[in-house]
Amino acid sequence: MHTQDLWRSVLQRLQPTISRANFVTWFQHSAVLELTESGCLRVGVPTAFARDWIASKYATKILQAAKELDSAVLDVELAVEAALADSDTRAVDARQLAAAESDKSVRKIRNQNAVTVTAGGAISAALHAGSTFAQFVPCEENRLAHAASVSVARRPGQTYNPLVIYGGVGLGKTHLLNAIGHETLACDATKKVVYLTAEMFTNEFVAATKKLKTDEFRRRYRDADVLLLDDVQFFEGREKTQEEFFNLFNALHAAGKQICVTSDRPPSELAELMDRLRSRLSWGLIAQVEAPGYESRLAILESKTRQKRAILDPEVLQFVALNVTGSVRELEGVLNRALAEADLLDRQPTVRRVAQIIEQLDRRERLIGAPARAEQPEQARTPQDFIELTARHFGLSPQALSSDSRTKDIKTARGVAMYLIRDQLGLGLADIGRRFSRNHATVLHAIQRINDDLKSDAALLRRVNAVKAELGL
Ligand code: ADP
Ligand code: MG
Repeated sequence: MHTQDLWRSVLQRLQPTISRANFVTWFQHSAVLELTESGCLRVGVPTAFARDWIASKYATKILQAAKELDSAVLDVELAVEAALADSDTRAVDARQLAAAESDKSVRKIRNQNAVTVTAGGAISAALHAGSTFAQFVPCEENRLAHAASVSVARRPGQTYNPLVIYGGVGLGKTHLLNAIGHETLACDATKKVVYLTAEMFTNEFVAATKKLKTDEFRRRYRDADVLLLDDVQFFEGREKTQEEFFNLFNALHAAGKQICVTSDRPPSELAELMDRLRSRLSWGLIAQVEAPGYESRLAILESKTRQKRAILDPEVLQFVALNVTGSVRELEGVLNRALAEADLLDRQPTVRRVAQIIEQLDRRERLIGAPARAEQPEQARTPQDFIELTARHFGLSPQALSSDSRTKDIKTARGVAMYLIRDQLGLGLADIGRRFSRNHATVLHAIQRINDDLKSDAALLRRVNAVKAELGL
């Protein structure tokens, strides 16, 4: 692949994982300068600021994507190339790339007839991309809801109509609803699937009424083959909207079209819903999703870790499953945080670290099976801690750092330890020197070199961040 095409492909992969604004800001006018014989992909950006930011946030992702696209790539290096800013032909136009990508997704969905694009375009009724059955972990607590969802998606309108799924927040209702939509379309791409929340329905209806366009509003949903309405409890107390939905429900149901609804309570407890609508909701099947128990939480964590192609210590997963007992959303939150740290800081999450993450997210009083408090005192860090940890990260003994040796690795490790002690503890140069049997000029020189290298060497930056993170900085 031509290097320029390679870079465009890398960016196309990166883009969905980054907000549009960040994508344009950081990758505008970037380019691949060369792919060296030794497999180093040299990426140029116009400013040092962009280089540093990309190095700390996106270097791992870039390397991963580039490796997948071209196995010759072994390493990524970022360099500042000011010329790229002035319409250099090598540079990509990130703005255009981002625009092209979003056009594509809209077109794709339109062709599939998957959604009803609303008049103003303000309310999108698109299905959530990642919420498919393949990504859903069926378990004890959601078995009926899952089985019924699959059944409905395969034969819409013919089995349970309506299907009502209810349960607390973060337990997979929205996920199942979207999965029904994806599966329906996978079986028959000509089907018209409409997903929207009761809140969107309400807002659209109110807007249509104001503009005297209720006929148009009605037509939009009456030809749906599958109507997926999320969070029906939002209709409580909104009589006009309920009336409108009631009529839509009747029309679709009579025509043999599938209706699926979610709710945070069983329909019988939706006190502010009109009787007629409540009774309609119990015509088909009502299935509950419950909070997952320990085994299910573990299974969900394992599945999500696999999906993200990450590997975590079984102990870590068990610890999370034991302590995060609320919703699946909370489980995901802790897992994502741990995986993000592993990715960005190049640090394998430990039980101790996830315990901290859980506490931060949730201020729980006591963690089950957590390392005893005494093991993690809020103790001040000493220069010796920095020396030991840095040495460990470089696979060296602490003594090696103060030895006479000038091998590259030892020199770098020594420099990093000096840099961190200076930066974090603010010790004087001579004081630092004594700990490494060096004079103050040598220390100054070593620290300056690390400072310079950090600006261009992403691998070094990751190492320094990893040592800092281990020290809780
Ligand atoms: P709800 O709509 O019930 O509040 P969501 O469907 O939004 O909950 O689920 C919250 C998060 O948890 C989503 O990211 C969803 O993908 C995930 N999730 C919930 N249940 C499961 C499950 N059984 N398997 C995999 N992911 C799940
Ligand atoms: Mg939801």
